[in-house]
Amino acid sequence: MSECSTCGSEMKKGFIQSGTRLAWVPKPAKFSVEPSLNKESVLLSNQNRFSINIVDAFLCEGCKRVLIDFSDKGV
Ligand SMILES: [Zn+2]
Repeated sequence: MSECSTCGSEMKKGFIQSGTRLAWVPKPAKFSVEPSLNKESVLLSNQNRFSINIVDAFLCEGCKRVLIDFSDKGV
């Protein structure tokens, strides 16, 4: 369970999935669909056995915001 830090209502737990790895990066990669990973970037997604990249995410429908929880990254 997670509450929205903006409005305080309960956020809906779900996932974001992608064909490429998902990462927070300071700048987007210009010539690649994959994020360019360096010491500043944070890899967010785990890959399942079908090579689908998945990360836990919480949705606030009221604020139109998505909160990504990457605390279990690598588990
Ligand atoms: Zn909210």
